[in-house]
Amino acid sequence: MSKLSNYNVWFVTGSQHLYGDEILKNVDDHSKIVAKALNDSSDVPVNVVYKSVVTTPDQITKVCQDANVDENCIGLVLWMHTFSPAKMWIRGLDLLKKPVVHFHTQFNAEIPWSEIDMDFMNENQSAHGGREFGFMASRLRKNRKVIVGHWKEEKAQKALGNWTRVAAGWHVLQRTKVARIGDNMREVAVTEGDKVEAQIRFGFSVNGFGVGDVTKYIDQIQSADIDALVKEYADTYEITKETLNNPNLKDAAQIELGMRAFLEEGGFGAYTDTFENLYGFKQLPGIASQRLMADGYGFGAEGDWKTAALLHAAKVMDEGLEGGTSFMEDYTYDFRKGRSRVLGSHMLEICPSIASGKARCEIHPLGIGGKDDPARLVFNVDEGPAINVSLIDMGTRFRLLVNEVDTVTPDQDLPNLPVARVLWDPKPDLDIAASSWIHAGGAHHTVFSKAITTDFIEDFADMAGIELVVIDGDTRLRDFKDSLKWNEVYYHLFQNKM
Ligand code: MN
Repeated sequence: MSKLSNYNVWFVTGSQHLYGDEILKNVDDHSKIVAKALNDSSDVPVNVVYKSVVTTPDQITKVCQDANVDENCIGLVLWMHTFSPAKMWIRGLDLLKKPVVHFHTQFNAEIPWSEIDMDFMNENQSAHGGREFGFMASRLRKNRKVIVGHWKEEKAQKALGNWTRVAAGWHVLQRTKVARIGDNMREVAVTEGDKVEAQIRFGFSVNGFGVGDVTKYIDQIQSADIDALVKEYADTYEITKETLNNPNLKDAAQIELGMRAFLEEGGFGAYTDTFENLYGFKQLPGIASQRLMADGYGFGAEGDWKTAALLHAAKVMDEGLEGGTSFMEDYTYDFRKGRSRVLGSHMLEICPSIASGKARCEIHPLGIGGKDDPARLVFNVDEGPAINVSLIDMGTRFRLLVNEVDTVTPDQDLPNLPVARVLWDPKPDLDIAASSWIHAGGAHHTVFSKAITTDFIEDFADMAGIELVVIDGDTRLRDFKDSLKWNEVYYHLFQNKM
């Protein structure tokens, strides 16, 4: 799997010749200092590579073209230290295919009241240099993030760092291969969609494989490797003697090893399966999918390739952050006076990256699918803020839908529930959240994350040039329904991409 430390963002400073060599030398020095501070910041997980001060249309065009073809460059950080007349940026911005963040900062922090003169003003003029650049980016309908703040501030560095995480997820998604093992769960609508349009829009490709393409790998697994993995299960999770001696555990380990080999050899970043298409599998992959997700693979159940791809991108973004990210399903409600909540889970496949403490490895019957009792990891999830994200194909466009939620501890144990589960209190409340979600056509499957926030998804939607609708603490149902109608018109008129 990819590592964030392998990726670079290029730090490029806009200026012009008018200032003369002395000021341009200062601009260059300042740019190096700012780029180094961002590179050194623990909030910025990728490398910030200082590129150049650009002062002519040709230089700007060149750096944009170079960025397009550089394999490790995931985006550009643009800073208008001084005034950079923006007609110079037209060609470069028009050609640029990588994500852009406009870092609206200034070298100096506070105004030196008693000393400030015109030289100082000319050297610290991001306030109007950034506006000139901003006009052109808007005039070109160029999606980008704007971060305002002094470069030493944690808030600005964090915003930049989070944007680089999203840019890395976006970068990886351009090359992601999604293996669709079996097809869709029959007759299900929301997990379907236009795979060609998805590849045009997001970069990832989705291709189908027969279940036999995977069982071929499973059948070749050696018993010594199976025993070693069963031992790893025993060392990593809470497990009873009875489970450890259940032959189904060995089958589960064999399935995991086979699926892993299939995914590695094919260079896949995400996959789907479905319980309706398991010919040759002894049991539905449960613990296998859970552990593959924990290692960064995107997963979607019942053929859900959209959620699988999105989960893989989110896994790139959340590297090293607290909280974890998982495939999720809105499963059942806890209707009550006061605060109604949602219990999220799936038949088996919830990622242990969100687990509270050590997961339990258990084997229980599965009501559907007609296969052997599958092994799975069972756990609860700690309290805290989280998001649910759904990627929907509306026919004429893709829509990203976010609901901000608070994960809460269940009032009582759930001793008879043999799956990982998480209880959440959706914002602003279940009534408005579920009404809004349903009006927006949101799926039952989501990417659930305690590690990344709505801001990440907003940046991602901008990079993809797709619709984003958010259900948060301020959502009012009537306004929300109106925004869906307005977006219908907007996205009919504009199909912009980065
Ligand atoms: Mn499902």
